Amino acid sequence: MTMQPFAPLGRIVDSRPRKCGHSPGDNPGTDCPAEATWHIMWNTDREVGLACDPHMDIARRYVFLDSHRIGPDCDMPGTLWDFDEKRCVYPDEPAVETAAAEQPTTA
Ligand SMILES: [Zn+2]
Ligand SMILES: [Zn+2]
Repeated sequence: MTMQPFAPLGRIVDSRPRKCGHSPGDNPGTDCPAEATWHIMWNTDREVGLACDPHMDIARRYVFLDSHRIGPDCDMPGTLWDFDEKRCVYPDEPAVETAAAEQPTTA
């Protein structure tokens, strides 16, 4: 029986933790330890944030442009926010015409 040097970890994906960005008082000691489940775009300057479920409830008290459930491409470098599909996508995918931070159509 030979030792395998590497465990079969499967496909390598971006393993950076996508942590909830809630931090009362911007103090590292109060950072929310939860994994983010929501992606929030706060304003037309494309400032985005990450939130867990309870903190998304708090975020909903404030005005923001758009939000969607965290997907595989969220918070990855180079992705674009797709307002129509409610997700983040790489710009080389077809049918991405929503890169401009326009006002979302209000129902
Ligand atoms: Zn949180
Ligand atoms: Zn996203």
